[in-house]
Amino acid sequence: MTYDVIVIGSGPGGYVAAIRASQLGLKTAIVERSELGGICLNWGCIPTKALLKSAQVFEYLQHAADYGVKASGVEVDFDAMVKRSRGVADAMSKGVQFLLKKYKVEVIVGTAKVMPGKKVEVSNEGKKDVHDAKHIIIATGARSRELPALKQDGKKIIGYREAMVLPKQPKSMVVVGSGAIGSEFAYFYNSIGTKVTLVEFLPLIVPVEDEEVSKQLERSFKKQGITVMTSAEVTAVDTSGSGCKVKIKSAKGEETIEADIVLSAVGIAANLEGIGLEDVGIITDKGKVLVNDYYQTNMPGYYAIGDIVRGPALAHVASHEGITCVEKIAGMHVEPMDYNNIPGCTYCQPEIASVGMTEKQVKEKGIEYKVGKFPFTASGKAKAGGNAEGFVKVIFDAKYGEWLGAHMIGANVTEMIAEVVAARKLETTGHEIIKTVHPHPTMSEATMEAVAAAYGEVIHI
Ligand SMILES: Cc1cc2nc3c(=O)[nH]c(=O)nc-3n(C[C@H](O)[C@H](O)[C@H](O)COP(=O)(O)OP(=O)(O)OC[C@H]3O[C@@H](n4cnc5c(N)ncnc54)[C@H](O)[C@@H]3O)c2cc1C
Repeated sequence: MTYDVIVIGSGPGGYVAAIRASQLGLKTAIVERSELGGICLNWGCIPTKALLKSAQVFEYLQHAADYGVKASGVEVDFDAMVKRSRGVADAMSKGVQFLLKKYKVEVIVGTAKVMPGKKVEVSNEGKKDVHDAKHIIIATGARSRELPALKQDGKKIIGYREAMVLPKQPKSMVVVGSGAIGSEFAYFYNSIGTKVTLVEFLPLIVPVEDEEVSKQLERSFKKQGITVMTSAEVTAVDTSGSGCKVKIKSAKGEETIEADIVLSAVGIAANLEGIGLEDVGIITDKGKVLVNDYYQTNMPGYYAIGDIVRGPALAHVASHEGITCVEKIAGMHVEPMDYNNIPGCTYCQPEIASVGMTEKQVKEKGIEYKVGKFPFTASGKAKAGGNAEGFVKVIFDAKYGEWLGAHMIGANVTEMIAEVVAARKLETTGHEIIKTVHPHPTMSEATMEAVAAAYGEVIHI
């Protein structure tokens, strides 16, 4: 039988593409070698958020007295935290299984390889099957990137997977890399009592964010007790003793610190090996599959989406790429994705959410701009919740009023950024946002106030 579409990999790119293809009447199969739902549901977005919630509950209970609540005997049960996180991940994976069944997507278990002639070979437990398809979508995702000085052994020098399921809570940890993954784990382990050192090669942590956000997070992390080392590099790790001796080079010189565990969070590497790309003649560049605006590779009938193509390695990017790809295959009129309007979120406390250009990028482009900032110290909802740390910063083009960027740090901001994304998608001006009635008291009022600040109309500061 020839399928209309075979998708390889069931992460958010793959399973969403498969379901949308099936909704559009295409006979679809999905091949998965491991858990349904991919990294996102099993080893990424979801289990980390479950762990972060546990840390947050612990922090709340520790500060219960601030809210007039007496709580004693509050302790971390690390095993139970890990167990809960795994349970949430398993339930989400089963949810994907249910959805694939509901939308009549055939699930093929095994490791897939593309072959010339629009064929997919699937190996499972020593058996090999070959399937034919009119369209093959490769969505094999990524894994933790390894640095030569930080070879992961899975025990003392670990990647994100091991960090989610450690057999016991480490007393001390060095986290290398302060992107979203590194910052989330640094926050999680520090808040449950592990002594954390966060090492960042660049001068600012969360380096893709607006500088003011990075500086605020550094202040917050230091206040929480995390040791933050910027413009610093781990040059070697000696694991021969009971723990790790971590050599760190910075402007101050070289120092060695001791830790139970080193977590390498220095990015990802796309899963391109052994999937038949060379046999088919699919072109890759700098570790990514090259595709056009509709995710077609250079070989007709073969497509690639998600973490294996260029663009931000995020679940919502992968799933939207999947939808765009199959809608085009189905002959619909689809606009290419707008990569300038992708929100990015980091779920440590305070949370970070942003979209569009940073102030530095706007300056570098020589654009005349207006900037508005509203601190959560002036927000009634933030004060009432005991979360007055952080701010919302917005940037508008001074001439045409285009909303160029928004940068938020504070409690719940990951839930607030979608307003900006929608407003930018609809090409809304700042004045329309100022005139949009926001509910009171909410954290989202801070967005309206920040926009008002950009236009000199702010009321509450
Ligand atoms: C710790 C961590 C936290 C994260 N948090 C967030 C977050 O909060 N928000 C966010 O947007 N993103 C987050 N991400 C990123 C997000 O998980 C990825 O961007 C997303 O999962 C990419 O989706 P994908 O479809 O490209 O592939 P993946 O989710 O990586 O899935 C690929 C799938 O393909 C399968 N596969 C690979 N090769 C084969 C083969 N040959 N045959 C069959 N199957 C194969 C794999 O087993 C896997 O299931 C996080 C990532 C990590 C690691």
